[in-house]
Amino acid sequence: MRRVSVFGSTGSIGESTLDLIARRSDLKVAVLTGGRNIARLAEQARVHGAELAVTAYEECYRDLKEALADTETAVAAGPAAIAEAGSRPADWVMSAIVGAAGLAPGFAALSQGKILALANKESLVTAGPLLMAEARTHGATVLPVDSEHSAVFQALVGEDVTAVEKVILTASGGGLRDWPLERLALAGVADAAAHPNWSMGQRITIDSASMFNKAMEVIEAHEFFGLAPAQIEVLVHPQSMVHALVGFCDGALMAHLGAPDMRHPIGYALNWPDRADLPVARLDLATVARLDFAIPDPRRYPALGLAQQIMATGGAAGAVFNAAKECALDQFIAGQIRFTDMAAVVADTLENFAARADIGKAPGTLADVLDIDAEARALAEKTGRARNRSASGAV
Ligand code: NAD
Ligand code: MG
Repeated sequence: MRRVSVFGSTGSIGESTLDLIARRSDLKVAVLTGGRNIARLAEQARVHGAELAVTAYEECYRDLKEALADTETAVAAGPAAIAEAGSRPADWVMSAIVGAAGLAPGFAALSQGKILALANKESLVTAGPLLMAEARTHGATVLPVDSEHSAVFQALVGEDVTAVEKVILTASGGGLRDWPLERLALAGVADAAAHPNWSMGQRITIDSASMFNKAMEVIEAHEFFGLAPAQIEVLVHPQSMVHALVGFCDGALMAHLGAPDMRHPIGYALNWPDRADLPVARLDLATVARLDFAIPDPRRYPALGLAQQIMATGGAAGAVFNAAKECALDQFIAGQIRFTDMAAVVADTLENFAARADIGKAPGTLADVLDIDAEARALAEKTGRARNRSASGAV
């Protein structure tokens, strides 16, 4: 039996992962983790006969314990318990916690020297070089689960990465793609959280509308595939059917197409290095009939310019960027700043951090990354509050 663990099992990626696991009889579920949705986590642990279920919140421990009292599933709570669960023996680990909270269990899983299926892009944006070095040290394999990166990874099978000229990541353009520029500042959470093609968690859906998600993915591609910033392009592709393209030095452009369903990249990582049947819709190109591509407008998507700045700076910049982005997103969701303020909060936080510390200095350990994350969050909160005050005229 192959042992599998799913971190963030109650989320969008976690649910899709368990949907695939449920169709197999050769997998044993070791660990499942979630947040406050205890009823769902307990139900998943029961259905899959998990060995251990962990909630991120200590105050939820009693509820989870009670819900699983008549089962064999062990129960734990708190961030330390989640990190510790990462080092439980497993052959395949899905990292699908959203945000920097996903770092610690992912790093711990690498010490197993097995497969880490990485949906948590924040791990590569904040700590890419450390994560890849940790994987090498333990002989572990990191497999990309982000659809674009899985697409690139698949296009590179059997290829020499030095023959790659460029990679093109596609972006749907998000829920506000067709809004007039001057109205963007008025977009509410519900507007930004409505995705035209993909069904995903609320945070990544809003990040799609701002293209912070794509900015993170550009950095992710830079870190994972070792590509130079100039080799990574972004095209708006409203149909979300071509997930990425790889251009080679002989002029060939290899595209990866498929229906927008995350069970494809998750399933590819689960079956890797083989392919096996997956319950995803097949593309009918004659019905699709046309595929459109366009250059993203930098005025609409300033996050893409920030990604270039982060890659040029290197060092701590990715960790500062991610923390500031997570804070700015919280502030937008809480109604404290406008949609268009998010990029400004991130840019200001980068500048404020650089004024206080050497932002180009690379963090040496995971603990350093988490310190930078905490410092950047404190700065971003201040920046967001100042913006909120000036927007409401109470300067
Ligand atoms: P989601 O919000 O639906 O689920 C997040 C999961 O993380 C839940 O299980 C939640 O309980 C858990 N969680 C949240 N905060 C936590 C914390 N502080 N500590 C521990 N656990 C916590 O998110 P999602 O859309 O499934 O995305 C998960 C990750 O996958 C993100 O990094 C996202 O960028 C990436 N990703 C998602 C998609 C997608 O289609 N949803 C596609 C590509 C990449
Ligand atoms: Mg993606």
